[in-house]
Formats: sequence, structure tokens, C-alpha cells
Amino acid sequence: MLSKKAKNITPSLTIGISTKVKELIDQGLDIINLSIGEPNFCTPTPAKEAAVESIYTNKAKYGPASGITELRKTIIHKLKTENNISYQLDEIVVSSGAKHAITNALIALINPGDEVLIPKPYWVSYPEMIKLVGGNPVFLDTKMKNNFKMTTEDIIDVITPKTKMIFITNPSNPTGAVYSKEELKSIVNLCIQHNIFILADEIYERICYKDNFISIASLSEKAKNITITINGLSKSAAMTGWRIGYTAANQTISKAISAIQGHLTSHPCVISQYGAIKALNSCQEDIQTMVLNYKKKRDIALNMLEKIKDISFIKPNGAFYVFIDISSLKNKLKYNDYFSISFANQLLEQEKVAVVPGVAFGMDDFIRISYACDNDTLIEGIKRISSFINNL
Ligand code: PMP
Ligand code: GLU
Repeated sequence: MLSKKAKNITPSLTIGISTKVKELIDQGLDIINLSIGEPNFCTPTPAKEAAVESIYTNKAKYGPASGITELRKTIIHKLKTENNISYQLDEIVVSSGAKHAITNALIALINPGDEVLIPKPYWVSYPEMIKLVGGNPVFLDTKMKNNFKMTTEDIIDVITPKTKMIFITNPSNPTGAVYSKEELKSIVNLCIQHNIFILADEIYERICYKDNFISIASLSEKAKNITITINGLSKSAAMTGWRIGYTAANQTISKAISAIQGHLTSHPCVISQYGAIKALNSCQEDIQTMVLNYKKKRDIALNMLEKIKDISFIKPNGAFYVFIDISSLKNKLKYNDYFSISFANQLLEQEKVAVVPGVAFGMDDFIRISYACDNDTLIEGIKRISSFINNL
């Protein structure tokens, strides 16, 4: 009955686990949720007010396929002032979340059989999105000693004449690693040399604990021309359910994305777009407060995790995750197909803590925790993980 594409897709583990956790909590169970990457902050009030006002002033009608002009101008201003990149209005398309922005970019550029390089560990949805548009995901190994950041040597090994695009997630989900300017430059030069487009997923850009975030497209005109930058409001402004993301790309690509979107969804929700203008224009302080809080949470998490024997991790410099190596525990736990899934299931059953198995990110020796929760939940969650490991 189903199409080959539908049969070939596995459901999202991050969304699946968080749905299961919500059901268990509704049943009255005391579950600590360290699984989904969802800010525990509330959307800033001015953004909420602007959205409500758009309803009462009857602005919530059909809008332009690429997003309302005022929001695109606000994004252009953000890219200029924060990232030092100049874009024109027809180079920005606002979509229904970063997920939709990535999918639009893939539909615009990928032909059946094209290869798309994804460094491991990768964010859960990338391979499935690529398969949905008929492309072939090609996985690229990185090294823990390089903080799981890909190097040009790692990339060269997997380039073929079919390579059309490479994904780079900066800051990374699931590791929290942040690329330096020099690291990005060498990757860009290689991509220019081999005619490879870069999909730069910068959704965690503002959640960066060092002052060194560099947007790839800012490196040069050539870099900008081959890069499709993905960003959005889900993480930076705690607006996950509002579904606002965007692409910044050259005119040809953006025009195609706009045409695709015009047929598939018309445009993202207009009410959310009005909220997004306000969030980008006047919620800087709220966002800075959130980031300071995430940094404190990261430090709480790392201090506690360091004391647990038999696990290791790299120090995250951005996003709100810790990717934890649990491979030393393999001989202590019974498992069938996937070690990380068995580990996560048993942790949930015994200690009522939800985490995401590393296999969702292509690495079965790991689990991922999100620390975007309140401090008490985080502390209790890690205490329970520690006791689970000690009792294995
Ligand atoms: N990219 C990465 C790396 C993510 O972690 C997420 C999860 N939010 C997304 C894209 C999708 O973001 P959105 O919720 O805006 O679709
Ligand atoms: N991106 C978040 C995560 O990795 C939210 C869930 C999702 O969109 O997959 O947990």
C-alpha cells in the first residue's frame, strides 16, 4: 500500500520518546525528562502580544509565500548586525520551523541519487529528510579527540562525483561542539574546490557559551554563494511550537525554495510570523538571560557527570545537550540489537529518567541528555542516572 519512500522512513526517535514521556506523565508517573531538546523557558511576552494583536487586527490572512516582508527585513537586519552578512529580500524564505527550511532546501537542490554528506554524530532527522527527497545520505566519521568536529581529511575520504551537499550543524546537536573560524574556512575551501553546497544548520547559534560563533556564509562571497543557512526561533526565543524557521541562500536557490513552499504550505503561520518579528527585534535581553541560564545548567550537569564512573563526554560549548559515551558499560547490561536503546529503556523503567539513545544520532555507544530543563529536574535526573549506572 505504502510508497517506497514511506516504507523507507523511520519515525523520529526524539519526537517519539518525548511523546511517550508525556503520556507516562499524564498517567501520573514521576518521569524526569532529559530527552527532547525543548527550552523550559516561556516565549518572551512581547512576542506573544504581537501574535495576539495580529489576530485582533485581522492581519492573519494569506501572506507571501516567502514570508511577510517585515519579518524578512528583520531577518536581514539580524544577519547583517549579528553575523556581518548582507542579504537581499529575495534571498530569505521563512518556513514552518527549521525542519521545513531544511526540507525545502533539499527539494530545491537534490536529485535522485545525489549524495549528501552527514558527519556523525548527526541530528536525527537529516538522513530521513535526505531519503525523502530521493538523495543518498553518506555518513562521515569524526573523532572524539577532535570533539566530533569533521576535518577536511574526514571529508575527502567520502567525496565522490555524486557528492552534491554537506551538512554542518554548528553548534552541534548532539555534542554541543562549536567550530572555529579556521576549521570552517578549511571546510569551505574544500567545498568550493569540489562544487559541494553547504547546508549550515545554525539553529543553536545564539546558544553559544564562547564569543566565537562564526556563521559560515560570513567567511567570503564564495562561501555565501554555496551556503544555505538554516536558522529559526524555536531554540533561541523558546518558540518551538510556533514553527518559525528560515533559509538564507542565493537568489536562484531562494526563488526555488519559495516556489516549492508556495505549493506545499503557502507560507508559515502568519500569526507566528508577527510574533517572530517582535522576538527578533526586542527580546534580546530575554535571550541573553536564557543563554546565561543554559550555561549554568551546563556547568551543573558537567560537575555531576564528571563524578560518575565509566562514562565520558566532551565539554559542550553550545546548544543544550551532553553526548555521553557509555561504551564501558556494555558488558554490564543485556541488550539485543541496539545497546543505547536497551540502556535508555532500562533507565526509563528502573529510574524513570528519559534520555535519547545515541543510535538516533548514528552512534550506538552513546546517550544524549538535554539540560534545557529546570535545575531541580536536571539534578534529580543525573542523580538517578548515577544510581542506575552504579547498580548495573
Ligand atoms: N536542526 C537541529 C540541529 C535541531 O536540533 C532541530 C530541533 N529543533 C531542528 C533543526 C528543527 O528545528 P525546528 O523545531 O525549528 O523545526
Ligand atoms: N531538535 C530537538 C531534539 O533534538 C527537538 C526534537 C526534534 O525536533 O527532533 O531533541
